[in-house]
Amino acid sequence: MSFSHLGLSDKVIAAIDSAGYKIPTPIQEQAIPHVLARRDVLGIAQTGTGKTAAFVLPMLTMLEKGRARARMPRTLILEPTRELAAQVVEQFEKYGKNHKLNVALIIGGVSFGDQDSKLTRGVDVLIATPGRLLDHSERGRLLLSGVELLVIDEADRMLDMGFIPDIERIGKLVPFTRQTLFFTATMPPEIQRIADTFLHNPVRVEVSKPATAATTIIQLQVATGREPDEKRETLRSLIRSADGFKNAIVFCNRKREVALLHRSLVRHKFNAVALHGDLDQSARTAALDAFRNGEAKLLVASDVAARGLDIPAVSHIFNFDVPHHPDDYIHRIGRTGRAGLSGTAITLVAPADSKAVAAIERLTGQPIPFMGAPAPAVGENRPAQGERPQTERSQKERPRGERSRGGRSHGGRPQRQPDRQPQQHQPQHSQSQPHQDKAPARSNTPQPDQAGDSDGSHLPAFLLRPVSLKA
Ligand code: AMP
Repeated sequence: MSFSHLGLSDKVIAAIDSAGYKIPTPIQEQAIPHVLARRDVLGIAQTGTGKTAAFVLPMLTMLEKGRARARMPRTLILEPTRELAAQVVEQFEKYGKNHKLNVALIIGGVSFGDQDSKLTRGVDVLIATPGRLLDHSERGRLLLSGVELLVIDEADRMLDMGFIPDIERIGKLVPFTRQTLFFTATMPPEIQRIADTFLHNPVRVEVSKPATAATTIIQLQVATGREPDEKRETLRSLIRSADGFKNAIVFCNRKREVALLHRSLVRHKFNAVALHGDLDQSARTAALDAFRNGEAKLLVASDVAARGLDIPAVSHIFNFDVPHHPDDYIHRIGRTGRAGLSGTAITLVAPADSKAVAAIERLTGQPIPFMGAPAPAVGENRPAQGERPQTERSQKERPRGERSRGGRSHGGRPQRQPDRQPQQHQPQHSQSQPHQDKAPARSNTPQPDQAGDSDGSHLPAFLLRPVSLKA
């Protein structure tokens, strides 16, 4: 099926041609004709499936008729984060290059006045995060009574971020007769309830099981100690030795950890930027730009900030923390292996994380193979010192005199525990992937961030052990 069979206008088809897209993705093929027929659509699709174009392309076609009036946008797209909203604007610019439409971005963290004057000039497409949109509306600077089409994107993330009350308020400000397109990656009961209130007799379009990870992603887990400094050291070793490394997103569960890890990586001379909700908008934009254009090789991010971002060709994902919600795991690793490229997702697993990992494995229906020795199961007795599969005992477990400050030799180098033989666990591998067939080789080239570790003694032993995979 080609784009020309979907009912899109000639101008839109021309823009698709120059973007180089030959065939519609499944969500586009299934949703676009219904959107053009003015039906409500419930789209269950993750980012990376082409779902943005599935609403942008028919909207452009529909907006060719009619004109915008001051302060009364004709269409409204709600996004949970500023970055996602900005990404949708980019897609309007890309596919709408043959149109003369006014597109406005209404997000927090930037000047209110500029947004206000844009609204005054009349807007065809308003792309907004819920909070700032309501600010404008409550000040009487924006009327939503002219909205003909409403898009609620990433609805499940809206729920996670506590935006559902705002969405419900916005729902009361737009006309009852508008058309609604509702996209979500997962369908928990609360989202089903919202979908039922917002959609009238919708067409349901589901492009893949909500919890299916792309098959091009190699997933691995690595056992690590629970202390942040141990985890940071494991992460550094993994990055240095990662096969086919181009760039990576490193996910943490908390904003605070994002900031700490980012600082630590920079101190170790890694080229890293950070993205989390406490940064101001210009810092967030600068970080994303640096990562997108290759200036920065590592993006340390929280789930909320990174959700749905379209960053092409990320070679690696590192889960510095195991996500609390299994769904987040799917979203995180979905940042790699996009557009048919292969990617690797490595999760650092401390002893207390095994329950969370089991929940992920239940959701994805596949075990995550160990790169080295597995962490002991929750509830299991912690291994005695000397048996523990990690490289070092945690700070707390060390006798006082051995702890950080006291643990440094006079030469200033951290004292290392002698590498112990890790326990002989058979790795449980399920995939046959060429680059998993060997242990991650440590680069022979000395790197500046290996200061003080030039003999490689810091590298956890299990990372040097060959890993053989069964098909
Ligand atoms: P999304 O799921 O909307 O985040 O889109 C993921 C990526 O797929 C974006 O970089 C789009 O530019 C790209 N894309 C969208 N539609 C197509 C298509 N029909 N063929 C190839 N790439 C596409």
